[in-house]
Amino acid sequence: MLCPRCAHTAVERVFTSPVPGVWEVLHCGRCLYMWRTSEPARRTRREAYPAEFRLTPEDIAATTEVPSVPPLRVRG
Ligand SMILES: [Zn+2]
Repeated sequence: MLCPRCAHTAVERVFTSPVPGVWEVLHCGRCLYMWRTSEPARRTRREAYPAEFRLTPEDIAATTEVPSVPPLRVRG
């Protein structure tokens, strides 16, 4: 199993479908990408992942900031 985004091999299974064998949620320990195995190939397979969004170890090392998650909107 390869990370679709950075081709790392240390991929961890973090969730499985309530009905066994339908899907898994996987997580890359290097670039932190997370995906569900039932998503399209362009999100789940290295060879189909868009080239412009692929990362290399050099790209990750040069990353200066991980964007923060903005606060939730309050309806009102
Ligand atoms: Zn990765």
